[in-house]
Amino acid sequence: DDPGNVKVVVRCRAFLPRERAKGTQCLIRMDPATNKTTLLAPTDFSDSSARKAYEDKEFVFDKSFWSHDEADPHYAHQEDVYRSFGEEFLDHNFDGYHTCIFAYGQTGSGKSYTMMGTPDNPGLIPRTCEELFDRIRNEPTPNTSYHVQVSYFEVYNEHVRDLLVPRTVPPIYLKIRESPKDGVYVQGLVETEVKSYADVERLMKVGDMSRTTASTKMNDTSSRSHAVFTIRLKQITHSLLSDETIERTARMRLVDLAGSERAKSTEATGQRLKEGGQINKSLTTLGRVIAALADPRRHNPKGRRPREVVPFRDSVLTWLLKDSLGGNSKTAMVACIAPSDYDETLSTLRYADQAKRIRTRASVNQDCMS
Ligand code: ADP
Ligand code: MG
Repeated sequence: DDPGNVKVVVRCRAFLPRERAKGTQCLIRMDPATNKTTLLAPTDFSDSSARKAYEDKEFVFDKSFWSHDEADPHYAHQEDVYRSFGEEFLDHNFDGYHTCIFAYGQTGSGKSYTMMGTPDNPGLIPRTCEELFDRIRNEPTPNTSYHVQVSYFEVYNEHVRDLLVPRTVPPIYLKIRESPKDGVYVQGLVETEVKSYADVERLMKVGDMSRTTASTKMNDTSSRSHAVFTIRLKQITHSLLSDETIERTARMRLVDLAGSERAKSTEATGQRLKEGGQINKSLTTLGRVIAALADPRRHNPKGRRPREVVPFRDSVLTWLLKDSLGGNSKTAMVACIAPSDYDETLSTLRYADQAKRIRTRASVNQDCMS
């Protein structure tokens, strides 16, 4: 077993054109040397009538990515984000560990940009897949065969939908199952064998299209749904010396969560009801799961809490991510923040701060057949 804390990084995006046009204040400072992120109290209240007692808040994460101002020497490009931990996570997969990277933050904070990116500026998912196939092609381990499978689903309103099969009316929802051998899985989810990066690229397009089509029809599904992209890497090595066959299977999960503003139940007043949306159960449960896992009493043998206290099974997303959050996985969270939203950013940074305390126990997933 390899115990370790969830790696937590934070990334601040640039102003959007409309924010820039309004002359919005930037409330974020990052110090690349110390990885300190500071949220500044707003001083310009021309925009909002309710002046609150704000104060500066400081946080330290494993890494702070300053993607706010491209002219800054410390500006973090997509490539920098990938090099700083995406690459390391791919190493873990080749070593046989499961990994999970999830993006958290309010709608418009840069989650999809960080995970998927754009054709000109690809994010973590395409970079990881491209490098995966580069490594298989250019640095294969002797006597090893590689098998790569991809699946892509979304959790919307506590339903699981396959993003790699065409949408139907009525929609087809998949069930979640749990078995001692396979853990928690989505029954009937299509897992497509891919032979090259071009194959993956095609599937990413199919899946994203399926997500987007829904969002234009149904009032922004992508801010309400969680998208889970999974790559399974199987390496089968035959040792001529010992005549053994070793099979390693690693799963990497890349998760683009629903907008974190969807977690606020107390604010479910007129506005939210009109939107036709109730609170996002998977997201509120994720918050409770993280709080339970981060509870220091969990790591204290005397005050050890029973496992049932972590409410994994209370929502579809947390049930599916059970292993990624609290078990056999090396896991990272990217907290995405907008430059000028004090309240939402503070809530995201607090969430991220709590996630730092979560420990997982990853082990190499390997079978030996002689
Ligand atoms: P989310 O998925 O969190 O709702 P998006 O990833 O869609 O947010 O980002 C919102 C907008 O900001 C998009 O137009 C996106 O291209 C842009 N954006 C986000 N992060 C960055 C960044 N680091 N650099 C440049 N543009 C970004
Ligand atoms: Mg998005």
